[in-house]
Amino acid sequence: MAANVIKGIEVVKAMKQDCAARVHKLKDEGRTPCMAIVRIGAREDDLAYERTAVKRCESMEIDCKVFEFPQDISSDEFMESFAQINNDSAIHGIMIFRPFPKQIDEKKVVEVMKPDKDIDGMTDENLVKIFKGDETGFAPCTAEAVIKILDFADIDLTGKNVALVGRSLVVGKPLLMMLIKRNATVTICHTRTKNISSICKNADIVIAAAGQAKMVTAEFVGDEAIVIDVGINVDEMGQLYGDVDFENVSAIADIITPVPGGVGTVTTALLAEHVIRACEYSIKQRGGSL
Ligand code: NAP
Repeated sequence: MAANVIKGIEVVKAMKQDCAARVHKLKDEGRTPCMAIVRIGAREDDLAYERTAVKRCESMEIDCKVFEFPQDISSDEFMESFAQINNDSAIHGIMIFRPFPKQIDEKKVVEVMKPDKDIDGMTDENLVKIFKGDETGFAPCTAEAVIKILDFADIDLTGKNVALVGRSLVVGKPLLMMLIKRNATVTICHTRTKNISSICKNADIVIAAAGQAKMVTAEFVGDEAIVIDVGINVDEMGQLYGDVDFENVSAIADIITPVPGGVGTVTTALLAEHVIRACEYSIKQRGGSL
C-alpha cells in the first residue's frame, strides 16, 4: 500500500491558528514581532530560502527585514553592522545564512549573537539547553521541524527505534537530543557507520539528514516504517531531491515526507514561530506580562 504522505503545509496550517492569536496579542500590546535575515553574498539556494521565509513572515503578519552584505565585505565592517542588528531592540530574532565567506569568522559572529535573538539555535547557550532538555531555548528549526512533523502525525516516540542518518550540529546532534527526550532509542549513522542499510531497515523511524540525493533506497526501509526526509540536494538542472528515493520508498513505508514541500516548509514556519516567542520573551524580560 502506498505511504501516507505528510506535506509540510498541513503541519504549518495546524500551527497557524496559535501563531496568529499570539501575534494579535502582541500587536495589542503595541509590539510587532520582527525577524532580521542576514545574508552575505547572493547564493541561489540562500535566495530561494529567503523568499520562502519572507513570505512565511508576511502570511503570519510578522515583520521581516533583510540585511544583505557583499561577498567581499571586510570582517570589521560586517561585525559593526551585525552589532547594530544584534542591539536593535525592534528586532526580536536573527537568522543568518551560513557558510560565511572566509574573511568572516563564524565562531566570532555566533559568540556575540544574543541567545534570546538566536531563533535558529546557533549559539552555545541554546545548544546547551537542548542537551539539558530545557525547552526555553531555541532549537535549530530544521531539527525541531522533524519533531513537529512526528507530533502532527501523532507518533508516540516512546520505545521507538530511530535510525538517524547525519550527525551535524545543525540537524543530527540536536535532533538526537530531542528524540531521546521523548524516549526514543536512537542510532546515529554517519560516513563511518557500517551496515547503514540494515540499521535503517530494522528501525521504526528513518530520518535522513545526510545531504546525499536518494541515498535512502527501498533496501533501507522496513515495512510500515516512518520516513522523514531532511535532505535538500539540487542537481545541475536546478531540480530538487531529498535524501530518500521517494518513488520506491513510498511504496513500502507507512508514512513519508516529500522534498520539496516537507521538512523545509515546516522549518520556515518554525523560524517565524521562534520570532514570536522571542518577542514574547522580550516583553517578559522588561517585566511586562502577556
Ligand atoms: P552536513 O553538515 O553536511 O552533515 C551531513 C551529515 O551526514 C554528516 O554527519 C555526514 O557524516 C553524514 N553523511 C553524509 N553522507 C553520508 C553517507 N553517504 N552515509 C552516511 N552518512 C552520511 O549537512 P547538514 O547541514 O546536517 O544537512 C543535512 C541535509 O539536510 C542537507 O541535504 C541539507 O541541505 C539539508 N537541510 C535541510 C534543511 C531544511 O530546512 N529542510 C535545513 C538544513 C539542512 P560525517 O559526519 O561522517 O561526515
